[in-house]
Amino acid sequence: MKRAIYPGSFDPITFGHLDIIARSADLFDEVVVGVLDNSAKTALFSAQERVSMIDGLLSVYSNVSVRAFGGLLIDFAKQIDAHVVIRGLRAVTDFEYELQIAQTNRVEYPKLDTVFLTTSLNYSYLSSTIVREFASYGGDISHFVPEEIIPLIQEKYSR
Ligand code: ADP
Repeated sequence: MKRAIYPGSFDPITFGHLDIIARSADLFDEVVVGVLDNSAKTALFSAQERVSMIDGLLSVYSNVSVRAFGGLLIDFAKQIDAHVVIRGLRAVTDFEYELQIAQTNRVEYPKLDTVFLTTSLNYSYLSSTIVREFASYGGDISHFVPEEIIPLIQEKYSR
């Protein structure tokens, strides 16, 4: 049974993330989307809001679930008995940082391997930061995120 974690901030989840989830669901028996609850980082959505937003998009997959986690990824991996971490690579700029994290995690927990999926070309420009930036100015974000979550994002900026 190959259980993989797909960790991230997902603040908010985008079509780029969903593409990685769909492809991971084909590669592994089980995929757990891990929403990082990082109190040091100010997020647009709380971890619980992000979990329920993602959960609503996962009904098409029988082998994907979502959970929040705090602290170290290796501890979360041990806790749920996962030996694979999935990360998406958009451009070389992602690579250096990702390589360092993956190597550090293996030093700390040698059983844990990181698998990198290269982004689909049509989403290579896309990031949660871009979505937040566009939404904050009332821009059209329908190319970036599923329509179900657009009102939730807009609501954050209407206050
Ligand atoms: P983090 O703060 O951990 O980087 P993100 O939510 O920004 O969290 O991203 C989670 C993962 O999804 C990362 O591996 C990131 O590279 C990947 N990712 C983000 N956007 C895309 C995209 N458009 N295509 C493919 N992978 C992506």
